Amino acid sequence: MKNRFILGITVWFGAIMLMVLIPGSIPAKTTFIAIGTGGITGVYYPTGGAIAKMVNQKREVYGIRCTVESTGGSVFNVNAIMADDLDFGIVQSDRQYQAIHGLAEWKDKGPQKDLRAVFSIHPESVTLCASVNSGIKTIADLKGKRVNIGNPGSGQRQNAIDALEAAGFDWKTDLKTEGVKAAEAPGLLQDGRIDAFFYTVGHPSGAIKEATAGTTKVRFVQITEIDNLLEKHPYYAESFVPVKLYPAAMNDKDVPTFGVKATFVTSAKVPDSIVYAVTKAVFDNFEKFKKLHPAYEVLTKERMLEGLSAPIHPGAMKYYREAGLK
Ligand code: GLU
Repeated sequence: MKNRFILGITVWFGAIMLMVLIPGSIPAKTTFIAIGTGGITGVYYPTGGAIAKMVNQKREVYGIRCTVESTGGSVFNVNAIMADDLDFGIVQSDRQYQAIHGLAEWKDKGPQKDLRAVFSIHPESVTLCASVNSGIKTIADLKGKRVNIGNPGSGQRQNAIDALEAAGFDWKTDLKTEGVKAAEAPGLLQDGRIDAFFYTVGHPSGAIKEATAGTTKVRFVQITEIDNLLEKHPYYAESFVPVKLYPAAMNDKDVPTFGVKATFVTSAKVPDSIVYAVTKAVFDNFEKFKKLHPAYEVLTKERMLEGLSAPIHPGAMKYYREAGLK
């Protein structure tokens, strides 16, 4: 009886030891991380999903479980990361620049010193969609019209304001601006409750498909004051809306505008080991990652290290040095 008891204890102890010694057989302590994105019909939300997928596939190795949150967009994400409510977020490159330098939305709060860059992702263009009924063909035609410039918290709001100012408008008085989320704007345009909306987004995006594919005919409007904008705001670049992705839109050629890049950011407070693991999960599986959204077609590993104005997080830097990218 006593011998059987000792044998039982030994087998039990041995089994536990084996589980500890064979990596992956017993889940290590799981660290939960959350990525802030944007509206679900944008490209940030599926991008957060793509990054999370890469990370969660390596759960056994890193013990990280990654979730994705739909949010109000770039400005919301920076603020939530700085408040430790989110660990990572997707943020327009121009908003990253503004936040680290304490400009625009951060003018009163000052520089967001703990903001850290991880990598950049797809290009985004400032997309102006107008109903054909509204008669809007140029940005000058927005005078007196009902135009959604985006919710406070979104990245597009300041881009819309910059575009309107470059066109000579006082955005507060010369037109009737709305501040709703990009996910709601296509429905309002289709219902005739707004004449146009701005959305800074990668292409193709669900929101722009929804805006252009309804019964109300919609066209993209070119933003022509680009030289003026690029001179004043060095973080903007020339861009265009590729019309072939939206066959129902009433345009027959690509529409010139200006744009930025989506970037992936975090806080200096997030441990190096976590940022290293997330960076490695994406870059080591780059070809798989690239296939997860058509907006990633133009990505290269080298380009993903461009457009970053906050210091690169040391966890990401460790990976880039190992991989020979820095
Ligand atoms: N660029 C938008 C923003 O910063 C979000 C675009 C998207 O969700 O794809 O708010």
